[in-house]
Amino acid sequence: MNCPACGVPMVEEDFGSVSVDVCKNGCKGIWFDWGELKDLDESHEGLGKALEEALKNPRAKDTDRGPLKCPKCGLEMRSHKYKSAKQVNVDECYACGGFFLDSGELGQIRDNYMSEEERDAYVQRLIEETPLRDDTHKAKLRAAGCHALGSLFSRRWPFVWP
Ligand SMILES: [Zn+2]
Ligand SMILES: [Zn+2]
Repeated sequence: MNCPACGVPMVEEDFGSVSVDVCKNGCKGIWFDWGELKDLDESHEGLGKALEEALKNPRAKDTDRGPLKCPKCGLEMRSHKYKSAKQVNVDECYACGGFFLDSGELGQIRDNYMSEEERDAYVQRLIEETPLRDDTHKAKLRAAGCHALGSLFSRRWPFVWP
């Protein structure tokens, strides 16, 4: 699978309980299938060295590019612009429920710890932006992915930061 941002082949890396596609030899972006995100949320320990490394990558500049194409289905992904001070622009594929995080966005998520109320509002907004209401099955999968993504913001990261 090639990276949606820079086209370089992605490498599967072990993020503890799940293996995730990382653009190791390119822009360092990370691709999560919605289910991977969900399982990452459920793991409470041993998130893996690769995840630890991903958290150290510098923030990529992603403001001047057009919509990314999903590396799985080839459809245009939707970029969620997060409007509060906690800016993390998550790119999401509505067709397969995958999420792409640019280099550094995972670190930003970690640094922008949300309270439960903030997180719930964020998740609600993500879900409301979905155009899948006619497809209950897909909408359910997406909602699960959005909750998993939101939970990244309010999780206790098992690392010590400088
Ligand atoms: Zn890349
Ligand atoms: Zn897709």
